[in-house]
Amino acid sequence: MHVTVLGSGTAVPVADRFPAGYLVQSPRATVLVDCGPGTLRRLAQAGVGIEQLDAVFLTHFHTDHCADLAALLFALHGPQYADRRPLAIHAAPGLQRLVRLLTEAWPWLTPRGYRLDLVELEPGGMGLEDLAVRWLPIRHTAQSLGYRFEHEGRTAVFSGDADECDELVEVARDADLFVCDAAFPDGQKVEGHLTPGLAGAHAQRAGARRLLLTHFYPQCEGHDLLGEAARTYGGAVELAADLMRLTP
Ligand SMILES: [Zn+2]
Ligand SMILES: [Zn+2]
Repeated sequence: MHVTVLGSGTAVPVADRFPAGYLVQSPRATVLVDCGPGTLRRLAQAGVGIEQLDAVFLTHFHTDHCADLAALLFALHGPQYADRRPLAIHAAPGLQRLVRLLTEAWPWLTPRGYRLDLVELEPGGMGLEDLAVRWLPIRHTAQSLGYRFEHEGRTAVFSGDADECDELVEVARDADLFVCDAAFPDGQKVEGHLTPGLAGAHAQRAGARRLLLTHFYPQCEGHDLLGEAARTYGGAVELAADLMRLTP
């Protein structure tokens, strides 16, 4: 299984970090976790075409995590994708309403020839090709989910945007790779997000083996984010960068 960072940034436009998006690849599944604006371009830069996507999992409905859903559905409207395999989009309840409203505004998002499954998730899990996927509600919005992907005993976990909660520890339990919100530096915490020190504390409680900090607001510039995380976490910490590729 491989994880590629498609966007390590946020809603605030900066030159080198696109908003949130991650690619999870196993031998039989190609999955997006979030698709903030620009994700499809980064996906192309990672060498993956949209015809290869099996599924999208959205952590929540903030636009920096899902705006490229419209761009994806519009691109797939092209006749060359008419007989593609089904595409499944997963998110908390509210997904079907979101896509219905988007499609009212932009009728060209309607699938043409392929099957689009809009799956609203209650806490639980599922199998997707050779991946086992689990999710839990995470403290951020009322419709926020953290995801856990497992392939041949290796696990990659995505917090989405997250504030302090036990569910985040649970979803990241013993993860080989924990991709975690560290939106603002220690001492500048904002409601609904974590700092490196808090991300580290959750990773430590979870027993995660490797922590990848991500979702950096510009306030993070010039701060020792790795040092802040290392004060609460004893494992390996890295800073996400766009197009970084990791093997959990
Ligand atoms: Zn958010
Ligand atoms: Zn966000």
